[in-house]
Amino acid sequence: MEYDTNKKCLKCYQYNDYLYYCEDCGGTFCNGCIVSEKTDCTYCNECAHISIGSKCDVCGKLNHLTAEKTMKRCPMCSSSKIKDSKRKIEGLSEEFSSNVNLLSTGLDTIKSFSNKYSEIVTSAKHIRRERFGLYPNIEGNLLRIQDLFYEIIQRASEILDKVSQHIYQDARTLIFNQNISVSKLRGIDKTLKIIKTHALSYSNILSDYFSDPLNELEDIEAKVKELKTFSELFDNAIEKFEPEIYELKIAAFANIKVTFPSNKRRKVGTLFITNKKMYFLPKSKLIKKKAKSVPISMIKDVDSKRSIFTGNRLIINMSERNIVKIKCPDNIITKLKFIFGILFNENENYIVTDPYMMENYRANLNFGQLNDKLDKRIKDLKEIPFSSSNYQLKERPIEPRREVESEEVMNLKIELKAAKDTLRELIKAFNERSITPEVYFSRREKTTQKIYMLEQQLQEVQKSSLDFGFTDLLRYYSERHPDRHPTR
Ligand SMILES: [Zn+2]
Ligand SMILES: [Zn+2]
Ligand SMILES: [Zn+2]
Ligand SMILES: [Zn+2]
Repeated sequence: MEYDTNKKCLKCYQYNDYLYYCEDCGGTFCNGCIVSEKTDCTYCNECAHISIGSKCDVCGKLNHLTAEKTMKRCPMCSSSKIKDSKRKIEGLSEEFSSNVNLLSTGLDTIKSFSNKYSEIVTSAKHIRRERFGLYPNIEGNLLRIQDLFYEIIQRASEILDKVSQHIYQDARTLIFNQNISVSKLRGIDKTLKIIKTHALSYSNILSDYFSDPLNELEDIEAKVKELKTFSELFDNAIEKFEPEIYELKIAAFANIKVTFPSNKRRKVGTLFITNKKMYFLPKSKLIKKKAKSVPISMIKDVDSKRSIFTGNRLIINMSERNIVKIKCPDNIITKLKFIFGILFNENENYIVTDPYMMENYRANLNFGQLNDKLDKRIKDLKEIPFSSSNYQLKERPIEPRREVESEEVMNLKIELKAAKDTLRELIKAFNERSITPEVYFSRREKTTQKIYMLEQQLQEVQKSSLDFGFTDLLRYYSERHPDRHPTR
């Protein structure tokens, strides 16, 4: 026979040496059967690319110039994803490898999450060193998010094994170290698409896992940011006044209009609040202008007066006719009422009394192990279509299976969780004043030491179980979880 029997056009059934391949329906067509039509396109003057829509396919810019281009379309499904079949075949291994690489896009989610976490811990530490007292839940929530992070990483590691198993099953049907005929193209292309779906769903699962913790992290970020703006106001006023060393900074607001009983004229300035005093520093060009202060203990109550004509005000009652009036935007009035409410009740569950508790927090979240595992899996998977022993793998005698999580790891995890619970209980007991500071500090020290040691041990043990062979793992999962392929 003169022609390769595989090189047949699906439209006219003629043999042809030169065929096009449709990436949508998987058909191969000769030059004569491919539809060529002039199509209205747009031209990008940034990168000179011609695209069908109004956006540039390459750089994403909005195009304004129109262009006409002869587009090739599939005679069966009219898709424009038409490729030269020879080039498609030549690019298959490259395509396979970039599809497998997509597994690591999930890592970007983890990286950006852990970067955000580090930034927040660092600035929260800084704020606490400046002796800021509000928002005690910053610490508690960061601790919880840290626990959650390691749980997610553990899950991500387990799911990676399952996803790799799927990709492995599919990749095993591919053989790239020999010639590929056109007739195989459709099947291979379909397999590559399935692999891409597996890899992308892994990163989707990770983004999904991180979406709630990320929202919580953003809440904390907003709180820390607010404390930062307060801190800047305190810093700017440092030459004129500074709270006493025993005071905790609570909040500061600029451009507040205040009327004091001693001075009937309303003045504009910055209002500072600590857990002991309220300070007001009027705007003034005089360097020696002093801040007025009112001890919180002298304030009887705080009330807001609503008025359509003069705007809403906050009335601070100290004693009979001894009244401070504050005029400021409504959102600040709400905030001030909230803050005074906490300070009046000496709600120490709300105000952090130990600002140095934050010092124990480590700013870095460790996911190096998952990172290494991901690299290893990707490398192994990429080699599969090129290994000659491809089919021998299955026939190898089955070695005794190792458990994925050893008893040692499990016991360490249980101990670690118990120690973390103890720490949380301690902090709670201290805040509720049911234990003395001496007991608190000594027991906290011991518990944090224990947590640190357990974490180190756990890392060591997990590191040694990472060498766990790839094929053993695959066997483990193929026995327990039969591969279910998405079918079209
Ligand atoms: Zn044809
Ligand atoms: Zn088609
Ligand atoms: Zn462009
Ligand atoms: Zn699969």
